[in-house]
Amino acid sequence: CGIVGYIGNQDSKEILIKGLEKLEYRGYDSAGIAVANANGVHVFKEKGRIADLRKIVDEDMLARIGIGHTRWATHGVPSTLNAHPHQSASERLTLVHNGVIENYEQLKEEYLEGVALKSETDTEVIVQLIEIFLNDGLSIEEAFRKTLKAVKGSYAFALLDAETPDTIFVAKNKSPLLIGLGDGFNVVASDAMAMLQVTNQYVELMDKEMVIVKRDEVIIQTIDGDVMNRKPFTAELDA
Ligand code: GLU
Repeated sequence: CGIVGYIGNQDSKEILIKGLEKLEYRGYDSAGIAVANANGVHVFKEKGRIADLRKIVDEDMLARIGIGHTRWATHGVPSTLNAHPHQSASERLTLVHNGVIENYEQLKEEYLEGVALKSETDTEVIVQLIEIFLNDGLSIEEAFRKTLKAVKGSYAFALLDAETPDTIFVAKNKSPLLIGLGDGFNVVASDAMAMLQVTNQYVELMDKEMVIVKRDEVIIQTIDGDVMNRKPFTAELDA
């Protein structure tokens, strides 16, 4: 399983799909991407191979921001419906997740009464929960942070907000996730190998950090909002 993300000047679709191919070695049962442009957020997902996903992606659509996922099912059978990305009720939010949310049933009971879930995953509970907090009047950053504080378990998250189309929101706890730095773009990846195609400069994340990733800016914060400074390292491809 794995996660990729891209924000920059280039079209993201091929970069994301190539990145997912590089993560195939980690194992997966389904794959998906979500890309955003002026027409909104577009989700493509499919049970089976990345090659099958590639066939359903609209090649003519240009989108300079996107996230991608390979799934190793833990909650809910391998299926196209349970494949990531998952969207909130209004489809404003789109989330990919690696890991296991241990308290998703409690969160569902406490906050999501009346929300019709579309999948059987622990992950969908999280994207719906962020939207509940948005509907309470929080900003996207506050709603994401409040959700992270409520979650128990392991996660690498990459989140798109249709109303903040210049940002990928990222967080990590006990699942791998790196930020890759580029000139005029930035990327997200479970493993540097996925994005060596575009950069070899990576920043490590610590558990319970949250990151704002824009085209020309990366802000790493603790879960309480303290900004962290961290130097990138150079990733080498060992042949
Ligand atoms: N627990 C999530 C699911 O079953 C994510 C699995 C993964 O890490 O790929 O959908």
